[in-house]
Amino acid sequence: MAPLDAGLTRVAQVAKVAAVTTGVSAGRRGRRGAPPPFDAAFVTRWLRASAAEIAAHRDFLTQLDAAIGDADHGVNMDRGFAAVASVVAAADGLSPGELLVQAGATLVLRVGGAAGPLYGSALREAGRSLGAASAFGLPELTEALDAALAGIVKLGAAEEGDKTIVDAWIPALQALRDAPSADAAAALHAARIAAEGGAAATTPLEARKGRASYLGARSVGHQDPGAASTSLLFGALERATEDAPPGR
Ligand code: ADP
Ligand code: MG
Repeated sequence: MAPLDAGLTRVAQVAKVAAVTTGVSAGRRGRRGAPPPFDAAFVTRWLRASAAEIAAHRDFLTQLDAAIGDADHGVNMDRGFAAVASVVAAADGLSPGELLVQAGATLVLRVGGAAGPLYGSALREAGRSLGAASAFGLPELTEALDAALAGIVKLGAAEEGDKTIVDAWIPALQALRDAPSADAAAALHAARIAAEGGAAATTPLEARKGRASYLGARSVGHQDPGAASTSLLFGALERATEDAPPGR
């Protein structure tokens, strides 16, 4: 085989492997907006975008928590995700799963209040679910986010409708499951929209878990801060797909 043909064969093989890991055909990947393979770079983009989203909405989250909590959610989350961004910047050669486990440990260590252990165990369980794989597709990402939710529920025992993080996480996960597996970017877009819808739908609910539950009926009429921060994390997940360098 001529060297050029050998090179093209190699490119086709790489494209095939990438298509398998993302669940996206080689043809779609060639078009603008096609999703990148999920890998350590993708997870890094997700965690950095999460830190940026949380920082940009820090005061908003704190205001939500001022209404039905103790006005620290934005500050807590910003401190934790800024630390995560530093850890990720210093991490070299870690698998996507290892990155998430480290990010989770950082949140547990750096975020006070309920949100630190809850989000920390979420990221840690997502990382454990991915294991040592260096690349993964939408089904594995969905499984990892499901493991994250299981971590949140194991720790906090919240059910859907309790006005917590879970109320944004569950619809986002459902949207991922319902989305056609061939278009990861569309699936993550749907997940972000569903998370935002879930967060907005906490407003008329009475809190049954966490600090806001102490208020009883007075918690009605305010959006849950944790559900709002979860929708930001799903927004960052969508951005991590969009922000892929050209050709990835
Ligand atoms: P704290 O309430 O200790 O000050 P934060 O203000 O950082 O902690 O986080 C509050 C958010 O944590 C709430 O808005 C809610 O979404 C979430 N939360 C609290 N308790 C639980 C729980 N048991 N399960 C899931 N999420 C919870
Ligand atoms: Mg608080």
